[in-house]
Amino acid sequence: MAILAKNMEFLGTETAFEVLARAAELERQGKEIINLGIGQPDFKTPPHIVEAAIKALKDGHHGYTPSQGILPLREAVSRDLYNRYNVEIDPDLVMILPGGKPTMFFSILMFGEPGTEILYPDPGFPIYRSMIEYCGAKPVPIHLKEENEFSFDAEEVVSRITPETRLIILNTPGNPTGGVVGERELDILVRGLAENPHTVLLADEIYSQMLYEGRVHKCLLTYPEVRDQIILLDGWSKTYAMTGWRLGFSVWPRNLIEKVNRLAVNCHSCVNAATQYAGIAALEGPQERVHEMVAAFDERRKVIVELLNQLPGFSCIDPGGAFYAFPNITKTGFTSMEIQNKILEEAGVATIAGPSFGIHGEGYIRFSYANSIENIRLAARRIDELLDGTQAS
Ligand code: PLP
Repeated sequence: MAILAKNMEFLGTETAFEVLARAAELERQGKEIINLGIGQPDFKTPPHIVEAAIKALKDGHHGYTPSQGILPLREAVSRDLYNRYNVEIDPDLVMILPGGKPTMFFSILMFGEPGTEILYPDPGFPIYRSMIEYCGAKPVPIHLKEENEFSFDAEEVVSRITPETRLIILNTPGNPTGGVVGERELDILVRGLAENPHTVLLADEIYSQMLYEGRVHKCLLTYPEVRDQIILLDGWSKTYAMTGWRLGFSVWPRNLIEKVNRLAVNCHSCVNAATQYAGIAALEGPQERVHEMVAAFDERRKVIVELLNQLPGFSCIDPGGAFYAFPNITKTGFTSMEIQNKILEEAGVATIAGPSFGIHGEGYIRFSYANSIENIRLAARRIDELLDGTQAS
């Protein structure tokens, strides 16, 4: 029998894909499932981006590219960051990767080992903890609380930095909560970081363009005093409805870029060439579709929050960003997992139980509102009918 490396025991997973598989199975059995589980825009990639990829293939861009990404794309990323945040980023510090995920994978691999500590948000993206445990580092959860609108207390985070803390992971706007970390907290965190030069911060800003009600995203790269301690993760998946293209970027401190490039060479060599050309078209082309998508998400956000607050036992605060609502379901009398399974199997609505995002997710359930208003209304009606008069034993 094959003998696996010990660390394989500690590798977690993303339950979203399991829920997706179960939903697909129920559909095959003839059930009509409304998918509010998956975290991807339900829009199509804008056509000019698709055309750019087709053109690149027709023009013969079939081969390997530099592992760091083609220079015109890295320059386009640099211009995009300048336009959005007024920061000057050397394209040599930009890394093009197959999605946002490899940036977290590589950063955690780079810093995590037994005897080190990594702080990460809980509830948060499940891959953070999975990779921390895989590397043998100590996972130190930062509890994101509903009463703080799922932001965190930066003083508390700073107080938890020890000489062993190699990495802090921050995600704003956040998955699964939609919470946004305000500027005051970021200022305090940055001051704490500056006092701890041995600690690096991974800023997962994949939802940076999805903010509502006048909120403005504050990118961690706009703090020059900690520029050498910040890894920025962002990408095309959510902003341009390109999840399946597998394209993301990150910006690295100068002393780390060669290291991440080396990991890329060892892992995937480079992102496929045509996709990189599509990435240029996305950043340099018209942005109307992005604004339309965000406006559509905002409309759905208002609808879903109102409907969730009317469901028996549910209460839901306004998410400030991303495309997730994270209602509190403790008053239903069911656990998160019971609710997730019940509404999938009996009401045909796919969602994700809070504990899939960490222990502090118990009592909550994630709804992705990357679906039509019509489907959101239908889902709420079905859940309402199911829960009305139902009592947990
Ligand atoms: N970071 C967060 C917080 C996410 O929610 C996701 C995807 O759901 C990612 C990163 C990964 O994005 P990608 O699909 O580009 O790898």
